[in-house]
Amino acid sequence: MIQVIKNVLLTNGQKTDILIENGRIKDIVANAEGFYPVLLDAEGMYASPGWIDLHTHAFPKYKPYCASPDKIGYQTGVTTVVDAGSSGANTIEEFYKIAKTARTRVLAFLNVSRVGLERIDELANLDSISWEAIRDTANAYPSFIIGLKARMSASVIGDSGLKPLQLAVKYSTTLNKPLMVHIGSAPPMLDEILSLLNKGDILTHCYHGKSPNHIFQNNGEVDPALADAVQRGVYLDVGHGKSSFSFQIAKKAKETGIFFDTISTDIYEDNQINGPVYSMADTLTKFLTLGYSLETIIRAVTETPAQILNRPRLGNFNSGSYAEFTFFTVEKETKILTDSLGNEIITSQVIKPQAVFLGGEYIELEKHYSCEV
Ligand code: ZN
Ligand code: ZN
Repeated sequence: MIQVIKNVLLTNGQKTDILIENGRIKDIVANAEGFYPVLLDAEGMYASPGWIDLHTHAFPKYKPYCASPDKIGYQTGVTTVVDAGSSGANTIEEFYKIAKTARTRVLAFLNVSRVGLERIDELANLDSISWEAIRDTANAYPSFIIGLKARMSASVIGDSGLKPLQLAVKYSTTLNKPLMVHIGSAPPMLDEILSLLNKGDILTHCYHGKSPNHIFQNNGEVDPALADAVQRGVYLDVGHGKSSFSFQIAKKAKETGIFFDTISTDIYEDNQINGPVYSMADTLTKFLTLGYSLETIIRAVTETPAQILNRPRLGNFNSGSYAEFTFFTVEKETKILTDSLGNEIITSQVIKPQAVFLGGEYIELEKHYSCEV
C-alpha cells in the first residue's frame, strides 16, 4: 500500500509530499492530495533523510567512551550511528548482539587493535594488531563492519610510531574498506599521518585545536599535506568530542576553504550529558552559527556519510531508498554554544529534532537530550 507524508519542507526550501511503499521511498511529489492515505502531515517541519552520525561510541562496555546506541541514536534524531572503533576483534560478537537489539541502525569501524577501547593506549602494543583477527572479524560481519579505525595520537600509540597506521592502511586496502584515522597530540605529526592515507579514507577530528598538530600548524597556514590529501579524495570528518573541536580552527577553515565532508559528534555518555557535545542537533547548530547553509549541514549527515559508507539506500530521497527520516525545526532562540576548549559563541537560531520515521513508525522525540541554557 502506498502512503503519503504531507507537506514536508526540504532543506532547499521546497515543500513536498513523500510517497512510501513497503518501507521504501516510492517518490517525492509536489502534491499527492486525494490519492493516497495520509500517514502524517508534517506541516511546519523540515524533513531530511535519517541523520547518520559517522563517529560515535555506541558500545556500552568500556568507560568512558561508551553509550547505549538508542540514547545517542534515534532518541536524538540520529537514525544511524557508526561506532568509531570502541570494539576490536575481541569483543565484536558482544557488540554485534547489542547492536542488533537497538532500534537505531548501528554500524562499526573495527578498531585495528583487537582490544579496542578496553585500554586507551590500545596501539602501544603492536602485538594487539593481528591481521588474522581483523580479516576473520570483517568476514564474519560483512555488513556490520564498514571499515577500520586507528587512533593515531601520542597517548594511544606509545612508542609504536607510524607502524599501527602503516598496518591499518595495508589491512583496510586489502579489505577494500575505508579507514578512519583519529588525530590529536603529536607524535605522529599530522603531515606524516596524512601522507599515508588513501582515497576514501577519513580523517576525524579535522578541526581539533591541539597545538602543534592541528591543520594550521605551519605558521597559521594550512598544512600542504592536508590539501594534497583532500585532492586525493581523503574525507574530512568533524568528530567534535570532548577535546577535539575548536571554533577558532573551524572558523579559519571556513575562511580558507577547508570544508568538512561529514559532521559527526564523537558522542558518548559523558560528553552527551555534561557537554560540550550534547547532541548531533547542537553540533549542527554550531555549524549553522558559523555560517554554513542548512542544506550543506544536513548533506554532511545524510548524503555524504551514506556515500562514504557505501550505503546507497541511506541518506537520500531517491525512489527505492529506505523510508527513514528525521523531522526537525529551526527555531529563533538565543543559546550559548561551547567548543571543546571552553570557548563560547552565541547563536540566535537552533536546530531541534522533533521526530524520526524509522522501522515504519513515526516516533516523536522527548526534549531532554539537548543542553538547556
Ligand atoms: Zn578520537
Ligand atoms: Zn571517538
